[in-house]
Amino acid sequence: MSARLIDGKATAARVLAEVAGDVAALKARGIEPALAVVLVGSDPASQVYVRNKVLRAGEVGIRSLEYCLGAEASAAEVLEVVEGLNADASVHGILVQLPLPAHISETQVLQAIDPAKDVDGFHSENVGGLSQGRPVLTPCTPAGCMRLLRDTLGDLAGKHAVVVGRSNIVGKPMAALLLAADCSVTVLHSRSVKPQRLCGQADIVVAAVGRPRMIDADWIKPGAVVIDVGINRIEDDGRSRLVGDVDFDAVQPVASAITPVPGGVGPMTIAMLMHNTVTAARQQHAPSAQE
Ligand code: NDP
Repeated sequence: MSARLIDGKATAARVLAEVAGDVAALKARGIEPALAVVLVGSDPASQVYVRNKVLRAGEVGIRSLEYCLGAEASAAEVLEVVEGLNADASVHGILVQLPLPAHISETQVLQAIDPAKDVDGFHSENVGGLSQGRPVLTPCTPAGCMRLLRDTLGDLAGKHAVVVGRSNIVGKPMAALLLAADCSVTVLHSRSVKPQRLCGQADIVVAAVGRPRMIDADWIKPGAVVIDVGINRIEDDGRSRLVGDVDFDAVQPVASAITPVPGGVGPMTIAMLMHNTVTAARQQHAPSAQE
């Protein structure tokens, strides 16, 4: 058996086409969806992420606003920007690019974002709503993984899903979304005992660890569907390249379907950010939100 490739690029293109249609429909009602991206400091990776988000927004017709503050900006200055954006009714989504410089509390800044504009889904109001099964703005990477899983498997009810990793941005919301989709969910982390054995029972494996190629064929039940969130840069034969948390070559003959790295989960994250921005705009202009 050789697993079929789950093409994140193609799925992301479909999501973006849907979003472009939704943006056009909102514009026809006089609403121009707008996303504000706040960058603090000059971390090169963050600059690339912000540039890609702004580019993608433009492609689907979303207006984007960029706020770049120096690395020495104070927490008060960042909060002032966020509060200004909260108060601006023409801005529907606010994203603060992480990580922030060490002297600024990420929690304080993320909690300052209006939950209705929190397109990253990191505000505790949205985190709580997700765990209670309320319809909220959902973190983009796990939401992208869910879309890939639904496209691959259809109904997920009754599947045993193992999430490897329990971070606030990927592992925990991923587990909540799988539970909401009626999966039986196991979450593994650095203190798990015999993680291979537990993972080897899964119909669905989502790997979000940050360790290059940690998950090999011994972790995977034949026929499982494998979603690799990991993005790790390694030196291979003197060349720098990206690999996932899953040993793709070892796992592909065992799994039934698998995401590649790159070209799997990565493109879905930005697509779901655009989806969340349009959702936020629509909700802010819903009749009940205007009362
Ligand atoms: P974190 O470092 O925040 O979390 C890693 C998790 O993996 C932790 O919960 C940790 O456990 C767990 N872990 C570490 N070692 C092991 C081990 N040996 N066995 C089992 N679990 C282990 O990472 P993120 O969640 O932020 O990111 C994970 C990966 O996903 C990274 O490669 C990152 O680059 C990538 N990523 C990709 C995105 C995309 O768009 N494709 C978006 C976001 C992240 P513990 O809690 O016990 O420490």
